[in-house]
Amino acid sequence: HLLDSALSKADSTNSMRRRAARKSYSADELHRGIQNGELVNHYQPKLSIRNRRVTGVETLVRWQHPLDGLVYPDQFIPEAEAHGLIDALTGAVLVQAFTDAAIWRAAGLDLSVAINVSMDNLTSLDFPDFVSEQARLKGVNPASIVLEVTETQLMKDLRMPLEILTRLRLRRFRLSIDDFGTGHSSLAQLRDLPFDELKIDRSFVHGAHHNETLRAIVQASLGLAKELGMETVAEGVEESEDFDFLKSTCCDVAQGYLFAKPMAASQVEAWVRAYS
Ligand code: C2E
Ligand code: CA
Ligand code: CA
Ligand code: CA
Repeated sequence: HLLDSALSKADSTNSMRRRAARKSYSADELHRGIQNGELVNHYQPKLSIRNRRVTGVETLVRWQHPLDGLVYPDQFIPEAEAHGLIDALTGAVLVQAFTDAAIWRAAGLDLSVAINVSMDNLTSLDFPDFVSEQARLKGVNPASIVLEVTETQLMKDLRMPLEILTRLRLRRFRLSIDDFGTGHSSLAQLRDLPFDELKIDRSFVHGAHHNETLRAIVQASLGLAKELGMETVAEGVEESEDFDFLKSTCCDVAQGYLFAKPMAASQVEAWVRAYS
């Protein structure tokens, strides 16, 4: 206990995160938070491995909780999915992201904007209509939007998700398979679903430079993606040695703390301009 409190004092940010990590949020509280506009989008840059140019940003949602401060998505996405709040959550994130995308475009930045979509969002044909309508309203080009889909649970029936993703693809939105290699049936997804991009999970990328097994997994995933004509993104690049390894492969894009942590929307333009 003593050690714990000493550590907490030494790193108050971390301690806030740990204290919050013990807390679980009720569906009612999360619902209220969404309604009150307490969700805040942060954005993390994605860079071309070939020339280190910024190609886009990934939207990562946070909850600006009135009492607990900034709460991270691992603490409320599962609740949102379990309690029927994921459509409201994704809707709020998407409207903010499209608004920011339009602002960056008007400022002359050429950025793709990625949004995380849960498989639980892919249950009704209202979803592709909603996404298209929002893009039209904000004047956002669908080809500059990437929808990153994560499979969190085993989907027995892929027909509806397939129909929804196909509709989005036909409307020129780009589709990405997120956390590749960690889901339940990633290979089945690749075979059936129309993805443009494959993201290799950071559990394979981080430390790959000194681990032969990880390197083999990354290489095999990249080979498969290339074979299927998909773009590839490596997430969780923290060390320059891992980046050097990725440069020796055919991987297209890198994302990770080595370049930037997720940042507030207001910081993105300055960061991109300073970096280029
Ligand atoms: P993800 O989609 O795999 O996003 C990458 C996570 O890794 C983010 O955590 C990001 O901050 C973190 N990260 C990025 N670079 C590095 C690095 O170099 N090292 C390390 N250790 N971590 C890195 P975050 O923001 O806490 O998000 C966690 C997960 O929550 C995301 O994983 C995603 O699955 C989910 N999520 C975030 N925003 C949304 C959202 O709007 N909707 C949905 N459905 N899920 C979301
Ligand atoms: Ca993602
Ligand atoms: Ca991941
Ligand atoms: Ca993910």
